[in-house]
Amino acid sequence: MEMIPISKAYEIVIGSSFSTGKETVPFTESLNRILAADVISDMEMPPFNKASVDGFACRKSDLGNKLEVIETVSAGGWPEKPAGKNLCTRIMTGAAVPEGADCVIMVEDTETLPSGMIKFTGSSTKENIAFRGEDIRKGDVVLKAGNIIRPQDIGVMATVGHTSVTVSKKPHAAIISSGDELVEPNEKPGRSQIRNCNAFQLMAQAERAGATGKYYGIARDDEEETYHIVQKAISENDLVIISGGVSMGDFDFIPSVLERAGVKILFTQVAVQPGKPTTFGIHTKALIFGLPGNPVSSFLQFELLIRPLINKMMGFSWQPIIKTLPLKDDFFRKSAERMGLIPVIITDDELVSPVEYHGSAHISAIPGAFGIIAIPPGQNKIEKGRMVSVRQI
Ligand code: AMP
Ligand code: MG
Repeated sequence: MEMIPISKAYEIVIGSSFSTGKETVPFTESLNRILAADVISDMEMPPFNKASVDGFACRKSDLGNKLEVIETVSAGGWPEKPAGKNLCTRIMTGAAVPEGADCVIMVEDTETLPSGMIKFTGSSTKENIAFRGEDIRKGDVVLKAGNIIRPQDIGVMATVGHTSVTVSKKPHAAIISSGDELVEPNEKPGRSQIRNCNAFQLMAQAERAGATGKYYGIARDDEEETYHIVQKAISENDLVIISGGVSMGDFDFIPSVLERAGVKILFTQVAVQPGKPTTFGIHTKALIFGLPGNPVSSFLQFELLIRPLINKMMGFSWQPIIKTLPLKDDFFRKSAERMGLIPVIITDDELVSPVEYHGSAHISAIPGAFGIIAIPPGQNKIEKGRMVSVRQI
């Protein structure tokens, strides 16, 4: 199969997306979920004309006169007496303003006379009243479907009494590692072994993207064993993400296993460095990715292709955070056949500078990077000072 540009791979992956449906969860458990139905207010906010300062509610036309205090209303209380000529109501922030009052003068702008009467000492006053329904009307759409739920959205849900919320179901993602050289993180690798990094990195990436990850273990470089794990993962999940075993080595069984499992392969190579041997296929039950074994490659391919897909499946058009800033120094690369992804930092003086990076196995290079820049195929050099777009990772 021919090598395709990353833009084409992205199109194919997003175009294969399907919806995972909806479910209802308590609003207190909805943080970071994707809202799948509009939230509508069941009331006016504020529900009554409300004092926005501590002070005295009265009529503006009486401000030049001494005012008699007729009652005190605290937040949660209700005024029994209406405003009237030269009368005022002592009122607290959040309390209902008595009928007929058209302003609340601040305590700071008043003096209490020996008689107990109140005198306005300011020169002018704002109304200091939040009027019924000025923020939210009953029936208003206060939160729109298709957005990610943030703490401030949960505050709005609480306000309008929306205690059960309809969200998109999380896609279920199976994570499989492949390779005889792998041992688990709690084991001490033998002399020819390394620890399985990808599975746990991918599980965390899946979770960050909004999916639930389920780990299916390490598939040994054995076609039969790999087939059974992949088969099971396909039948139980919306996404299956396998790392390793997709290259041209004698023991890279993923392509043949996927074929045997009934996966229709849509691409096997993407013109990007790192990450070329990225495979994607569809099955009636799931979407399947075969990612390169090297951890930087699998990390980046997940970010470029799978993270947007997971969001799309939940009805959210996720966008990465991008900062466009000048490059600190000239940058060269030897081979420019594919698009290059370069991990970079942003310096204190807001310049973009590559981190020390030895290639796609250099796992310790990326935790320190703010993001990546992409150099188009055919381009070997970016000059110092040129604006580059850094995509946060
Ligand atoms: P492969 O794609 O299987 O040819 O693997 C390419 C490289 O990635 C090899 O050096 C593997 O040892 C390494 N590799 C594969 N899977 C993992 C993994 N889960 N964690 C860390 N390194 C891996
Ligand atoms: Mg391998």
